[in-house]
Amino acid sequence: MIQIATFVLGPLQNNVYLLEDPESRQAVIVDPAFESRRLLPLLREKNLELQAVWLTHAHFDHFAGVVDLVPRDPSAGTQAGIQIGLHPADLPLWHSRGGADTFGFFIPPLPEPDLAFFDAQSLPLGSTAVEVRHVPGHSPGHVVFYLPALKCVLCGDTIFQGSIGRTDLAGGDQDSLINVIRSQVLSLPDDTRLMPGHGPATTVGAERRKNPFLSTWRTRSNAFPE
Ligand SMILES: [Zn+2]
Ligand SMILES: [Zn+2]
Repeated sequence: MIQIATFVLGPLQNNVYLLEDPESRQAVIVDPAFESRRLLPLLREKNLELQAVWLTHAHFDHFAGVVDLVPRDPSAGTQAGIQIGLHPADLPLWHSRGGADTFGFFIPPLPEPDLAFFDAQSLPLGSTAVEVRHVPGHSPGHVVFYLPALKCVLCGDTIFQGSIGRTDLAGGDQDSLINVIRSQVLSLPDDTRLMPGHGPATTVGAERRKNPFLSTWRTRSNAFPE
């Protein structure tokens, strides 16, 4: 069974998730932020082989560390063959460095993603299946990773404890975000753990009851505007 470790890294305090399969020693890093090179000694120490980097979306703070983990020239490093997974709808964002310039951050030239995510895709990691769910709204190609065996979702910037992702950046759409959070995330069992891209973990049940952006009252008020 996969184990998940959380690391808070970089100036925007991103949650970086290390998924490891204890039997096969295979590992995946989800959303490698700035400073993700700090995970390399840990991978060596635990004798883990990094298979892939999976990105929930292509905002720079979620992929800035990819260049540390995946060398651009396979002959230059020992970690050749590490896949970079991204939904194709976020490729334009990826090619514009994920908005880093707007926020005054520098991102060096990037390798090309070589694993295209799609909705309902099943990603194997050791003997555990991870399900991709397309959840556009914060960005057009945003996905979350659902691990039914662990009852948890790695949700990037879709939903936070008491909040949802911002939708004022390029390609953002708040109606879409709220609708897909309801259909793709809140439809899961109440005790499903939600592990966001920033801030503390929460649960489906807690957000269904308390998240002010997702309350029933909001649905009614939107459905019957005065
Ligand atoms: Zn984002
Ligand atoms: Zn973020």
